[in-house]
Amino acid sequence: MPTMHTTQVSPHVRNLPASSTLAVSAKAKELKAQGVDVVGFGTGEPDFDTPAHIIDSLVEAARGGHTHYAPSPGSPECREVIARKLRDENGLPVEARHVVVTVGGKEAIYLTMQCLIEPGRGDEVLMVAPAWVSVPAIIEVCGGTATWVSGTIDTGWKITPEELDASITPKTVAVVINSPSNPCGTAYTPDELRALAEVIARHDHVTLVSDEIYEKLMYPELAPGLEHFSVGSMPELADRTITINGLSKSHAMTGWRIGYLATPAGDGAFAAAAGKLHSQMVSSIPAFCMPPIVEAIENGAPAVEQMRQTFARRGALMYEKLSAIDGLRCMKPAGAFYCFPELSGCFGRTTPGGVKIEDAIGFCSALLEEANVAVVPGTDFGPTAANCCRLSFAASEEDIERGCDRLAEFVASLR
Ligand code: PLP
Repeated sequence: MPTMHTTQVSPHVRNLPASSTLAVSAKAKELKAQGVDVVGFGTGEPDFDTPAHIIDSLVEAARGGHTHYAPSPGSPECREVIARKLRDENGLPVEARHVVVTVGGKEAIYLTMQCLIEPGRGDEVLMVAPAWVSVPAIIEVCGGTATWVSGTIDTGWKITPEELDASITPKTVAVVINSPSNPCGTAYTPDELRALAEVIARHDHVTLVSDEIYEKLMYPELAPGLEHFSVGSMPELADRTITINGLSKSHAMTGWRIGYLATPAGDGAFAAAAGKLHSQMVSSIPAFCMPPIVEAIENGAPAVEQMRQTFARRGALMYEKLSAIDGLRCMKPAGAFYCFPELSGCFGRTTPGGVKIEDAIGFCSALLEEANVAVVPGTDFGPTAANCCRLSFAASEEDIERGCDRLAEFVASLR
């Protein structure tokens, strides 16, 4: 008998954790398919459809012949419009050649990490945490080690410059800051970001990766005076900052997969390297998505602002409902579309279904099974996030009312 050969998955991929956020949505979908009325706060995407003028631009592009291979780092018009936005709105000293248009913000992070990390060298990437689950996975798959410097609910989920300074080692190749934050819904002020960036400026072996995907979702209505600040605009760091952004969250375009990275680093050599990798991996984003990028950036502001105002109202509503629940602690959201309550007041208690809640995963799975509300456990968002869960307020006000009422009843029912 010939021996059967089974293809083995490489350990570095086999050992990669699956996304916990997607695991919850999968379970919630399964329950919904069985006819259960689940209120979903799990997914991190706007519930709005993409504005019609952007969709029209896509149709026109496809009908107009944009169906062939496109310039790999993005069409010249696209790169120019992104560079202009970054110069005018963010103060970044970038030109079109410093921009690579990527398959979502996620590919921009992946390319950045591939270009920064040398496998086998012991490179560390320091995450300012709590932080989005995919980033440590990307760091690990690129051959680096994710390290953490974490805020807590008592510090408003923020870290201090001193803590950042103490966490940088000779092996730290980059620091990742994501403000406004997934999962906390908090945002650093411009002064706080400047103070963190000044620490990085003193460590000249470190690159700053600034993930600004939630830039357009900030709520001065909830955090008076708050405004966005791009750290790459600081002259002392401009050449050492990779800015990540995209249209997914701001323009309700998650399914389009449009992101970008921009950096003048190495007089454009870093962007050129990221572009080379992108071209070898995926060639480009779809050709017919290029004109809609120009349309979205040039003419999308009114729709973006309308969605932002709606999110601000929903965030206020969710925060009001959650902070009235005895047993949860919650910070008021300032950006993105997340509330991130701390749950430890519920640990050690038992649900009506007889489940003893030991941790956030147990809480979230019992909440889904017994009260049909889908939320994401904080477990994978960093060491200080493990006792929390993430609720997205990219949901209708009616769902926020219903879902938070169910959550309140669930917590009140614990014995
Ligand atoms: N960065 C953060 C913090 C995110 O939360 C996400 C998406 O959830 C991304 C980047 C990537 O966005 P996308 O790849 O959907 O454009």
